[in-house]
Amino acid sequence: MIVLLLFGNMKFGKYILFLGIYLICTYFVVPRVAPLFGRERLISSESIASQSLFYRITNRNYVRPEMNVLLSDIASELNKKYPKAKITCLDANFPFINKFPLLPHLSHNDGKKLDISLMYEWKGALTNKKPSVSGYGIFEGPKPKEYDQIKKCKANGDWQYDIQKYMTLGPINKDIKFSEKGTKALLNAILKQPTVGKVFIEPHLKHRLGLKHEKIRFHGCQAVRHDDHIHLQLK
Ligand SMILES: [Zn+2]
Repeated sequence: MIVLLLFGNMKFGKYILFLGIYLICTYFVVPRVAPLFGRERLISSESIASQSLFYRITNRNYVRPEMNVLLSDIASELNKKYPKAKITCLDANFPFINKFPLLPHLSHNDGKKLDISLMYEWKGALTNKKPSVSGYGIFEGPKPKEYDQIKKCKANGDWQYDIQKYMTLGPINKDIKFSEKGTKALLNAILKQPTVGKVFIEPHLKHRLGLKHEKIRFHGCQAVRHDDHIHLQLK
C-alpha cells in the first residue's frame, strides 16, 4: 500500500507489487519447497559461481543435491592445477516437476543437468571472465581443417542448432580468448568424478583437446551446439 501511495499510479504500483511478491517467492518460498521435489539451489563458493543474476532470479539454478557435491569435487580437482579458477554455472533446471523442460534445453528437466562455461585466457593467463553476458552464444567454432558438425546439422535442416547466437545478451570482454589448457583441465576434472554420467561438447573441441573419454558423447543435431558451453549430467 505504501508503495502504491509513493508512486501514485495504480498501474505502476501493481507492477511493483507483483515484482515484490515474485522476489519474495523466488528467494524465500521456492528454496523451501524445492527439496520436496528433490532439488536445491546451486551452491556458490569461492570457486563456483553463476554467470549472471538472471539464472537465480528466473529460478533456472536448481539441481539435485548430488550435483552440488559433484561441482565441489570438480572445483577441488581443478584448483589443484589452477588455484584461482572458477566454475561458471549457466542453465541448470527449474525447481519443480520432472519432465518440465527448461527451454531451449529439452533435457534439463530432472535436476540432473547443468551447463557450465568453457575456460578463457587473457594475455596468456587463465581468467574467469566470459565472452558474453549470458555465458552462451559466443562460439569456439571449428578451425578450417577440423570436422564441422555445425555445418552438417544445419545442412540437415536443424535450424535451431546454433540458436544460442541470439541469447548472448551482449558480447563482453572481447579481448579474452578460448583457453585450451584451462578447458582441458576442467574437462579432465569433470571426467575424473564417478557420479558424472555424460558430458557434451562439440566434436571438434573434443578432438582439439585430445580427449577420448567414453563419457564425452555427441548430443545429436536435435540439440544445440556445444562449443560455447559444456553440458554435464549426473548418472
Ligand atoms: Zn545442457
